[in-house]
Amino acid sequence: MTAGMYRTPLVPGPTTVPPEVLAAFAQNYPSGDLEPEYCTLYAETQARLQTIFGTGNRIALMSGEAMVGLWGALKSCVRPGDRVLAVAGGLFGHGFAEMARAIGADVRLVESDWDDVPDVAAVEQAAAEFRPHLVTMVHGETPSGTIMPVGEVGAALRRQGAPLFLVDAVATAGGTPVETDAWGIDLLLVGSQKALSAPPDMAIVAISERAFEAAEAIGYQGYDALSPWRTALARGFFPYTPNWHGTAALHAAAGRLLDEGLERVYRRHADVAAHCRERGRALGLEVYPRRDAIAAPTVTAFKVPPALGWEALRRELRARGVGAGGNYGPLAGKVFRLGHMGTQADRAVVDAALATLAEILRVPVG
Ligand SMILES: *Cc1c(COP(=O)(O)O)cnc(C)c1O
Repeated sequence: MTAGMYRTPLVPGPTTVPPEVLAAFAQNYPSGDLEPEYCTLYAETQARLQTIFGTGNRIALMSGEAMVGLWGALKSCVRPGDRVLAVAGGLFGHGFAEMARAIGADVRLVESDWDDVPDVAAVEQAAAEFRPHLVTMVHGETPSGTIMPVGEVGAALRRQGAPLFLVDAVATAGGTPVETDAWGIDLLLVGSQKALSAPPDMAIVAISERAFEAAEAIGYQGYDALSPWRTALARGFFPYTPNWHGTAALHAAAGRLLDEGLERVYRRHADVAAHCRERGRALGLEVYPRRDAIAAPTVTAFKVPPALGWEALRRELRARGVGAGGNYGPLAGKVFRLGHMGTQADRAVVDAALATLAEILRVPVG
């Protein structure tokens, strides 16, 4: 596979990495983990990401996929027997419930159908009854193309004893507002390869002091442990060889977003998403989320036309150089996605994909 495999790349991550981010990645950097230049780069990258995520919390820049951050946050802050409330309206929401169970937690679910989002009042009631130690939630459910009411749930949780609040914003941060501190998020999980459009090698976790205290009380140790990140930057001592390349790429990627201006970035995503839904509907496609108000601004999920089927649709799209996302679990074969996050939140790219879809569906382009 080569970088140019898709002429029209709309896979919902990894997204196309822009040249200046690739250039920052593809350099030789001084070796050693005690280089003061790395600490400067780290501090600047952290400051940029703090601005994007709306937080004053420390940020761990871990080597690995976003999953490293998801597991590390859970293993660091949950011990066997702890009550965990999983707010789940899709694949990743249920994934957190399974992961917490694997750690031995006592898990309760607040669910919704996957084309919908969980009800905030139901979450508040469950928090009041169950008194969880930690609540998990997914901001953007990439497989179903929905966006969840994280800010409202955060406010409800603060009314109900303020359990630790863990939020997966892997598919949203950098493409739509994430207000970590205002929403009361203790553990914000982000990956480098979705809306930030950096290579897929970094897990980003913004960690509140409360979460660090919980982690220190538990004392989990491992490659993915969060505790070392409390003092890593101040001591200039990292838990493993710093990923200078990945950090430099994130520094450049975050810089691009701030240069464009966050409001413009978010408007670009919202505009492209609305356009994608509108044009898709004009081709006779059905948007999967029940209401546009809960449709994600970073990825659009359409139902696969049953007469065509996903295998044929994928084959036709690939033959024409269009990269789209299939699906998993109960949505496999039924729902497909156009990922328009980061560099792919581009009307021309989405229009090219929709023109190809029109050709495949044999609908005249309007
Ligand atoms: C992509 C994604 C992940 C996992 O990211 P990896 O980099 O593949 O580990 C987690 N959560 C959501 C919502 C995602 O979209």
